[in-house]
Amino acid sequence: LKVTGGLTNEPLARLVIRHSSRCRPWMRGHGVHFQPPLSGALHVARTNAFFMGGGKALVNAYYRSAERLGVQVHYDAPVDAIELDGGRFVAARVARTDADGTVRHERFEARSCVLAAGGFESNIPWMREAWGRNADGEWPVDNFLIRGTRYNMGTVLKFMLDAGADSIGDPTQAHCVAIDARAPLYDGGICTRIDCVSLGVVVNRNAERFYDEGEDFWPKRYAIWGRLVALQPGQIGYSIIDAKAVGRFMPPVFPGTTAGTLPELARKLGLDEAVFVRTVERFNAACRVGTFDHTALDDCRTEGLTPPKTHWARPIDVPPFTAYPVRPGVTFTYLGLKTDERASVFFGGQRSPNLFVAGEMMAGNVLGKGYTAGVGMSIGTAFGRIAGTQAAGVALGAGASAFETSMKGAHDVLA
Ligand SMILES: Cc1cc2nc3c(=O)[nH]c(=O)nc-3n(C[C@H](O)[C@H](O)[C@H](O)COP(=O)(O)OP(=O)(O)OC[C@H]3O[C@@H](n4cnc5c(N)ncnc54)[C@H](O)[C@@H]3O)c2cc1C
Repeated sequence: LKVTGGLTNEPLARLVIRHSSRCRPWMRGHGVHFQPPLSGALHVARTNAFFMGGGKALVNAYYRSAERLGVQVHYDAPVDAIELDGGRFVAARVARTDADGTVRHERFEARSCVLAAGGFESNIPWMREAWGRNADGEWPVDNFLIRGTRYNMGTVLKFMLDAGADSIGDPTQAHCVAIDARAPLYDGGICTRIDCVSLGVVVNRNAERFYDEGEDFWPKRYAIWGRLVALQPGQIGYSIIDAKAVGRFMPPVFPGTTAGTLPELARKLGLDEAVFVRTVERFNAACRVGTFDHTALDDCRTEGLTPPKTHWARPIDVPPFTAYPVRPGVTFTYLGLKTDERASVFFGGQRSPNLFVAGEMMAGNVLGKGYTAGVGMSIGTAFGRIAGTQAAGVALGAGASAFETSMKGAHDVLA
């Protein structure tokens, strides 16, 4: 409730939380391995589980498990349309492009279907349309970077919305992180994230601060910083730290810009030297340093400064000074299909009998805005299992009873 500002379907959010507390044995059963948290992941060490080998190893484990169970996987098979009979799923249509450019159309009929084709974050024209121009006449999206796959174009999502499926979410809301401005347009991954924001200050192109860098623990705040940077002129910011911060955060893949003095740092960054030095000096003078503790909401804060820094505020005064340029890095969008605790797709408030949705395509039901670390995978895992169980139940002719049984099984594990 706190991170979404109340923009959440609370029963569905609670369902995700309950599922995440008991999904690990099931995941292990499908070949997923976990590892202890790395140092630097201190804030989430007690609440989050970490996949050994990251997300790709997780997905590979699931593919291997599915193949062992006899599931046939079609690669390079983009779905471009869903055949519907009213709200009932009939078939998925695929358009494959051969090496010689020939497009082959195929049709996959099924008794039920789970839609899990991601958000529309890779679709720059759609993102551009959603964000529009800002007051300065800029197209902010032109400066966005996409942290993951280039393939989440939202084709299936758009098809379903055009077909009258009930939607949820604001198209401009997304999991949007401040990432290194030098990251590639697609697939920069986690190593481009800049995690030192709460240890220093962030200034915009005008060398001015614009938000409380110490508002809350970083795992509860990192996913709003992309949006904050998106609202700044030129959609760029600079995360500034001094020598005291080094070693307290996961170092990013690109080296920072360093300087022995603040004016030199401003010159290297191309920022107005006088404004930059004034911004940092004002911040330094406003710091009321108590007992610095990056693992707690400590009492180091600013006084009489707008915007304030409410925790971990310490003067930036020990050279060398380091800066990382940051841009908005979109992880996934929140516009999706409206669903319920059975992961059903709805048309005009009517439940589809055999069409289900999971993952980013429905994450907006839980996340109207904001984020907290691990929720993306938790939503995907919880609703992936529910949607899969439902779809299998329908395909086997068992309908809702399969769902009730699966829920009972899950409850037994918890007990
Ligand atoms: C860099 C990065 C770091 C992340 N870190 C974390 C983290 O630490 N913790 C966490 O909880 N979450 C994290 N996430 C989010 C998490 O990865 C997503 O929430 C999760 O992968 C969503 O699963 P999904 O199946 O809905 O979408 P995806 O995993 O994106 O899968 C969608 C799939 O659909 C395919 N597809 C798209 N369109 C079509 C089409 N028309 N036809 C056929 N296939 C199609 C795509 O190719 C893709 O394979 C991170 C994401 C990124 C990018």
